[in-house]
Amino acid sequence: MSSVNENPAPASAALFARARAVTPGGVNSPVRAFRAVGGTPRFMVSGRGPYLTDADGREYVDLVCSWGPMILGHAHPAVQEAVREAVARGTSFGTPGAGEVELAEEIVSRIAPVEQVRLVSSGTEATMSAIRLARGFTGRAKVIKFAGCYHGHVDALLAAAGSGLATFALPDTPGVTGASAADTIVLPYNDLSSVESAFAAHGADIACVITEAAPGNMGVVTPRPGFNAGLKALCERHGALFVSDEVMTGFRVSKSGWFGVEGVVPDLLTFGKVMGGGFPAAAFGGRSDVMSRLAPLGPVYQAGTLSGNPVATAAGVTTLRHCTDAVYKHLDRVSLALRTEVSAALAKEGVAHTVSTAGNMFSIFFTDHPVHDYDQARTQEAFRFSAFFHAMLDAGVYLPPSAFEAWFLSAAHDDTAVNRILDALPAAARAAASAQEN
Ligand code: PLP
Repeated sequence: MSSVNENPAPASAALFARARAVTPGGVNSPVRAFRAVGGTPRFMVSGRGPYLTDADGREYVDLVCSWGPMILGHAHPAVQEAVREAVARGTSFGTPGAGEVELAEEIVSRIAPVEQVRLVSSGTEATMSAIRLARGFTGRAKVIKFAGCYHGHVDALLAAAGSGLATFALPDTPGVTGASAADTIVLPYNDLSSVESAFAAHGADIACVITEAAPGNMGVVTPRPGFNAGLKALCERHGALFVSDEVMTGFRVSKSGWFGVEGVVPDLLTFGKVMGGGFPAAAFGGRSDVMSRLAPLGPVYQAGTLSGNPVATAAGVTTLRHCTDAVYKHLDRVSLALRTEVSAALAKEGVAHTVSTAGNMFSIFFTDHPVHDYDQARTQEAFRFSAFFHAMLDAGVYLPPSAFEAWFLSAAHDDTAVNRILDALPAAARAAASAQEN
């Protein structure tokens, strides 16, 4: 899809050509390639506060925030200082270190259900390890997940996943064997009765239910009141573990993530993104009787050369310590203002849309009905999003390049940045209104 009318971006285009020669699709993570919206992916060279600057020297207000991690904005001085100091002391020792203890303590102190935590390097590793641990703890094989929920590219969890897979509408992925997907039961999100039926049929074989605490990977979908509590109750009744994936929501929607918003107590939780402060750090944690089944205490093996890396943990600890109540208040306020204005601009042009929220995370579905699950998310007119996206991009606003992603804000999104976004909205709404499906 390169037939999009867009401002020329010759330096990005040249880098993209070089990248495509040496990297599949020119990117190291599929959604960055702009395939859902068309045009030239922008190669960013620097970030400061709420802004990114691309290789052509154009500045954008960033509403991706590295897909969630940059909650304090780019190049936050305290995080940079902590990283500089950590680098000066050496970058990886392959031994235990003080930084990983501090980060673990920070997580445990914020989230009551996390009695113990193990650090890893990506959200994918966190969910993969949590699933293995749930299976090892219960001695059962089956896992329930929900259509449209993305838990990283774990083989067993790539059935009906969201994120890049929602974007590309891939029903499945080659390379995942029938055997690794066979124990995965995929159910519609927000539908407790289907979970009851699955437990009725397979209860004794189900190791865990894994769900995004509040989904953001099919676009943002709000869990119905009682949905997460119902999952927890069913798990408890049938001896399965309830695994809440807070890789996206953790430390973003509140100091203690979605748990802090809703209060449902999971057996295991997974984290990533914000807790790494822009570096590869992630974690899984929960009940200590479950966590103690992990090696070296227990028989469930899990390990990582760079797990608890001192530079990543320095960035993570510093980021979390700067995520004060004032930061969350700011995010809530800006999120509300922004989604109200986006909705007003679209309504003015008669564009059917639904604003969907989970705390300060939100996305806009180009459909006039509420979205409770993946099937409903997929009925949206995504071609309108593409037109909207490119109009915003041309006006210097960098949205997630897919209609199936959350929009992310940071503490650095001040009035100046927000006003730039608001100024771009009328033309983008007109572009969405006049968009034609190809
Ligand atoms: N879980 C959720 C809810 C996510 O949003 C993501 C990534 O977007 C992951 C897991 C995987 O994390 P990572 O990309 O760090 O492997």
